[in-house]
Amino acid sequence: MTGIITKAQTLLTVYPPLSIGVDTILLLRSRRKTMSMEITRDCRVLVRAPLQCPSSVVLAFVHSHESWITTHFLRASEHAKAHPDPDVLEKERLIALARKKLPDLTARYAAVMGVKAKSVKITSAQQRFGSCSSMNGICYSWRLMAYPDRAIEYVVVHELAHIRFKNHSKEFYAFVETILPDWRERAALLKL
Ligand SMILES: [Zn+2]
Repeated sequence: MTGIITKAQTLLTVYPPLSIGVDTILLLRSRRKTMSMEITRDCRVLVRAPLQCPSSVVLAFVHSHESWITTHFLRASEHAKAHPDPDVLEKERLIALARKKLPDLTARYAAVMGVKAKSVKITSAQQRFGSCSSMNGICYSWRLMAYPDRAIEYVVVHELAHIRFKNHSKEFYAFVETILPDWRERAALLKL
C-alpha cells in the first residue's frame, strides 16, 4: 500500500505455462535494482523488474518461483471468491459511502497524527486499498468499504503514516502502532 503505479504494465507470455495454468504475467519495469513478485487481488502474477532486465531473466525468475506462485495464487483465488466483484448498485453504494466517510475519517486521524494529506481521492483500484503519493495525495479504493470499520481505519492510518515515512520501515509501523496498537488484527481483516 505504498506509492502509485505510474509505469506502464506490459504482458509477458510464460512458456511453458505454469502448472496452475498461468500463461501470462503482468510485468512492470521501473527504476529499481531487484525483482519482486506479487499476486494481485484480481489473481494476476505481477513481477516488478529493473528497466533493463531482459524478459528471459524475468521468465527464469517466474519459473524458479513456481511453488510460491501456486501457493499464493490459490490463496488469492479463495479471497476473490469470498469477495466477488459487486454488481452495479452495490458498487454505487460503496462509492457513495467511500465519498461520504473517507475524507472525514482521514481528516480526523490526520489531526491526531499531526500530518496533513494534500488530497483524498476515491479510485477503483483492484490491487491496493490505499496509496499515498510522493506529494502526499491519498487515494482509497471504494472496494475498501466492503470491509469492517476497524479495517478501514487501519488503511486510513497506514496511508497517513506514509506522509511521515515513505516506506514500510520499523519506524513506520512503530508510528502506526502509536495510533492503532491493534493494527495487526485490523490489517488481518483485509485478508479474509
Ligand atoms: Zn504502505
